[in-house]
Amino acid sequence: MRKIAALKNKLKRMEDRRAGLSRRLDNIKQEKLYLERKLIDLSKLYTITKEMSFDIRFNELFSSLENFIKDNFQFEKFKIILFKYENGKRSVDKVYEIGGKIEDRSRDIIAIPLVMRRRVISEILIENINKDDYDKFLILTPQVTLQIERIKLFDEIERLSIMDGLTGTYLRRYFLERLKEELSRAQQYNMDIAFIMADLDYFKKCNDNFGHLVGDVVLKEVAGILKQNVREIDLVGRFGGEEFCILLPEANKADAYAVAERIRKAVEGYTIKAYDETLVVTISMGISSFPKDSRVLDKLIEDADIALYEAKRQGRNKVCLVS
Ligand code: GH3
Ligand code: MG
Ligand code: MG
Repeated sequence: MRKIAALKNKLKRMEDRRAGLSRRLDNIKQEKLYLERKLIDLSKLYTITKEMSFDIRFNELFSSLENFIKDNFQFEKFKIILFKYENGKRSVDKVYEIGGKIEDRSRDIIAIPLVMRRRVISEILIENINKDDYDKFLILTPQVTLQIERIKLFDEIERLSIMDGLTGTYLRRYFLERLKEELSRAQQYNMDIAFIMADLDYFKKCNDNFGHLVGDVVLKEVAGILKQNVREIDLVGRFGGEEFCILLPEANKADAYAVAERIRKAVEGYTIKAYDETLVVTISMGISSFPKDSRVLDKLIEDADIALYEAKRQGRNKVCLVS
């Protein structure tokens, strides 16, 4: 009898041990699953980080992110807000938004601002994110932030390489590239292009009388007037010192004449304030057109130049068309 009881006891102990081991095994299995899932998450985060590093435009970055976020996070809304600064004033530049899966009204929002040179340049927001996704989100956002910073710098460098710093108009090299492109497009689709060459009148005198610093302000202000008086699709370039050029796609000579006259009058009627000086300047312009006058780039420029010379000859503050 005692022997049986002892055996039963032993059996029970063994069973307890077995149950304990099985529980531990379950725990280990769960731990393994958890770690496997973490590993998958991390490798996905690694992949998306790598993918994002190839994007050089914001919309590319955003489309890389979109599917990843949708597939890997539970949330209600994901948003990236990009800010821009003009004269020190902040405004919203672009907003990218993704709707998610959770429909919960608790409004739990995480907002992560990105500060660059003491300015908030973007904000990443996520609403009602599933608590289990917190860690992942906190790994992802610094990566996104880094990419936003990189793309911003890329934009800035690109802008500097094609824009004249003083006047905010396109540099000659870039302008000519675009003109070439537009010309071949116009040839292919049988479209008009007008070209305006503009030159400030007696600008040397302006420098001589008021100094180069005032001259620089004049150039900047006149460039502003040029930009204000053309369409979104037109291109204003700085051809040389005080010479500007304007490309007007899908415009003929008459259209360009109307634009040039509008510019001429606007410049003439504008009082420029530079430092302690107040002055008025005038501008002369020559117009050529494709395909009517000139079928190749060099001729288009040459013809506009000839027309500009004629405007100067006729006494300046004038618009002339190539004859
Ligand atoms: P015209 O009516 O015949 O065009 O006479 P103009 O005096 O405007 O022409 P000119 O070509 O003799 O002089 C152009 C002047 O533009 C000379 C040059 O010092 C000045 N200039 C060129 N680039 C700049 C610039 O970036 N800043 C300033 N302040 N002046 C510039
Ligand atoms: Mg001049
Ligand atoms: Mg000149």
